[in-house]
Amino acid sequence: MHDAAALVAGATLAAARAVWEGAAEHGASIAGGLHHAMAGHASGFCVYNHPAIAIAWLLGQGAERVAYVDIDVHHGDGVQAAFWDDPRVLTISLHEHPATLFPGSGLPTEAGPRDAEGSAVNVALPAGTRDAGWLRAFHATVPPLLRAGRPECGWPTVDDPDLGTVRVGLHGQGKAGRPGADHEHVRMRRHARSRCAAE
Ligand SMILES: [Zn+2]
Repeated sequence: MHDAAALVAGATLAAARAVWEGAAEHGASIAGGLHHAMAGHASGFCVYNHPAIAIAWLLGQGAERVAYVDIDVHHGDGVQAAFWDDPRVLTISLHEHPATLFPGSGLPTEAGPRDAEGSAVNVALPAGTRDAGWLRAFHATVPPLLRAGRPECGWPTVDDPDLGTVRVGLHGQGKAGRPGADHEHVRMRRHARSRCAAE
């Protein structure tokens, strides 16, 4: 278990490093999405929280503003917890409402501690939400947040969009990240000095 989880973490770290050091314009870690792991224990099939590991590495390299956008159906609780009180990291998670889906967190009231308020943004969607509603929620929240936060590094995460009852297909999620005039990744890069990674 350790070996497999460490390989995933290493792949994500390598993607972050390649982008940060300028060897690549974008990076992807396709085995990723293990966003539930906590610092002290595994959770939700996740052993090592590789997005959090990579973000911590970026901070160690001197990054001052990192945006983490989590579009998996589950709340990105592990990443949020890792940077809850760190104003350098903005975590945004769109997910099914915690009343109906693991991990039972991610209410909009979870916004960060007093001295880092606004460092966490949670959009809890009703069970049964489909592409149109999901895209409306995404475009109403993520672009303005990224414009305001002007991150140096962007980090979208998705793993299993159909495990919950929010029914957003890859077509719908693709619309959130498709190249073109509304391509959020492009917009983010405009403010981000070209440093982005994805998993
Ligand atoms: Zn998930």
